Amino acid sequence: MSFDVDLFVIGAGSGGVRAARMAATTGAKVAVAEEKYLGGTCVNVGCVPKKLMVYASHYQEDFNDAYGFGWTVSGFHHNWQRFIDNKNQEISRLNGIYQSLLENAGVTIYPNKAEILGAHAVKVGEQILTAEKILVCTGGYPTRPDIPGKEHVIVSDDLFYLKDRPSRIAIIGGGYIACEFASIFQGLGSETHLLYRGDQLLKAFDHGIATFVANEMEKKGVNVRYGRVVESVEKRQEGYSCLLDNGETLIVDTVFYAIGRTPNTKGLGLENAKVEHSGKGYIQVDENFQTKEPSIFALGDVIGTPELTPVALEQAMVFVDQQFGSNKKTMRYDAIPTTIFTQPNLGTCGLSEEQVKDLGLKADVYVSEFRSMKHCLSGNSERTQMKLIVDQATDQVLGVHIAGPDAGEIVQGFAVAIKAKLTKAQWDDTIGIHPTAAEELVTMRSRSYVLNSVD
Ligand code: FAD
Repeated sequence: MSFDVDLFVIGAGSGGVRAARMAATTGAKVAVAEEKYLGGTCVNVGCVPKKLMVYASHYQEDFNDAYGFGWTVSGFHHNWQRFIDNKNQEISRLNGIYQSLLENAGVTIYPNKAEILGAHAVKVGEQILTAEKILVCTGGYPTRPDIPGKEHVIVSDDLFYLKDRPSRIAIIGGGYIACEFASIFQGLGSETHLLYRGDQLLKAFDHGIATFVANEMEKKGVNVRYGRVVESVEKRQEGYSCLLDNGETLIVDTVFYAIGRTPNTKGLGLENAKVEHSGKGYIQVDENFQTKEPSIFALGDVIGTPELTPVALEQAMVFVDQQFGSNKKTMRYDAIPTTIFTQPNLGTCGLSEEQVKDLGLKADVYVSEFRSMKHCLSGNSERTQMKLIVDQATDQVLGVHIAGPDAGEIVQGFAVAIKAKLTKAQWDDTIGIHPTAAEELVTMRSRSYVLNSVD
């Protein structure tokens, strides 16, 4: 049987663009449908605009730090509109780059919503196309709360297009997106309240380093409230009034919910094929991204693996290698480095203390906490913490966790050592770069404590 295309990709986000482009370079006939914007979440309402906001928000601290180095910086003021205009221009530039990448690779782009009609058929706009293989890369969308006054709250998709910077913002959530935006708005000068129903921010990460970051954020001025739930939101003349579960009211200009993401499978026509999804809506696939319908595959945020752009990109590379290449690659999810772009950053790779304890591994923990050299003159009270977790049996470094300036940049290099399963002796054998904060990671001589010790 002949098909219109060899591969039809639904969704041109991180995973979809990479898969479509790389499959086309093998000579396959490829089409991709995108209903909103090329580049998907990461480029339009995720990593990229978020990181630009992170840069914007750090200047205030930099201006203040400059004084101790002899500078006088006065009268600084942030122009939100100028920043948003420049940000939007950059996103449009990236949308154009994604379009050229796809077109130059020979991929046909359909700027429409796509719906699966059967194992080999897709409806896109008014057209029906047949495909030997269909790849679903539809990602997810921010979950909205179901509370009285929910029409007054915003989610991350809205946040990047706010007309004005809120003078007062309530952020609800305790994960990385909530924490990053708490740092962003605090840095930009907004009165920032972070309300979380639990007692541990960033609970998916090493608790010790996450607590350290939370305390640093509070020191910088984020008002963190643990064990608090917003019961309703009301619009009043003086702002939005959040009624908290302890009876207190909090008046702010913007109420931002960052309480998780929902996989994007609505209206996708999964029921027209043998594609199964979990209770939460994630598409069920095997280790080769294949659904129960042999010609339909899925990858990226929609399958419930770690929701990160580099994960979706690597999955796409593996998928293309398996289906259109030499079929040598498999996807591995161990030692995925990641960074939370709070102020300070939290960079991490490998196992947390909690994971090591659960595995029952006896491990040495090395912790170093210090004030960075820069802050000796800046007067800034920000501190840095670094942690290594080392398996006693093998001397392998199981995890590295860094809270401090540029932790994201630092951890990327050390992730290679974690992935290569290098030992603490090999880390120690590496000569440090002086004077840097990162040199601490190869000069940690004294163990701080032991995990799973029977003594
Ligand atoms: P997406 O990029 O979400 O792409 C899915 C695409 O499919 C979308 O463009 C959508 O419009 C389209 N689509 C959906 N349904 C259809 C349909 N039926 N027909 C046609 N098109 C359809 N990750 C990091 O690694 N680092 C970060 O710093 C980071 N920061 C983030 C910050 C925020 C605020 C958010 C929300 C996410 C962040 N992420 C970050 C996560 C990252 O953006 C995602 O993991 C990544 O975009 C997932 O890629 P994907 O291809 O699975 O889906």
